[in-house]
Amino acid sequence: MSADPNCIFCKIIQGAIPSRKVHEDDEILAFHDIAPWAPVHFLMIPKRHIVSMAHLQAEDATLIGRMLTLAPQLALQQGCRPYPEGGFRIVTNTGAEGGQEVQHLHFHVMGGPRPWLRG
Ligand code: AMP
Ligand code: ZN
Repeated sequence: MSADPNCIFCKIIQGAIPSRKVHEDDEILAFHDIAPWAPVHFLMIPKRHIVSMAHLQAEDATLIGRMLTLAPQLALQQGCRPYPEGGFRIVTNTGAEGGQEVQHLHFHVMGGPRPWLRG
């Protein structure tokens, strides 16, 4: 399945729900979290509707690798200071006990000067 009509992040990908975009390419969208925990807090999602990390298949490895390789570049562009003084945090909540609220795989990328609201 490439899109789930009931999925809020699929609606963001389609433009049916607005977002503040950080990056877009053929496979990946990144946009600011609506309720940021940190001075920099954006989400990276695959455009294909993948429910969670628990749903990854071997053929998704290249996509996930691209996302994780892109994250540091976007973090710097969004104002995170460079490693080692700066840096960022990547979080992916998975499943109910993992605290996942939106059932479309997403990486939280957070950074910026502390203290943060959470985390
Ligand atoms: P999680 O709890 O890991 O599933 O995180 C879901 C995240 O999506 C939360 O941090 C929300 O603030 C964020 N979120 C929910 N709806 C939107 C939206 N329309 N635009 C941007 N971020 C959103
Ligand atoms: Zn979706």
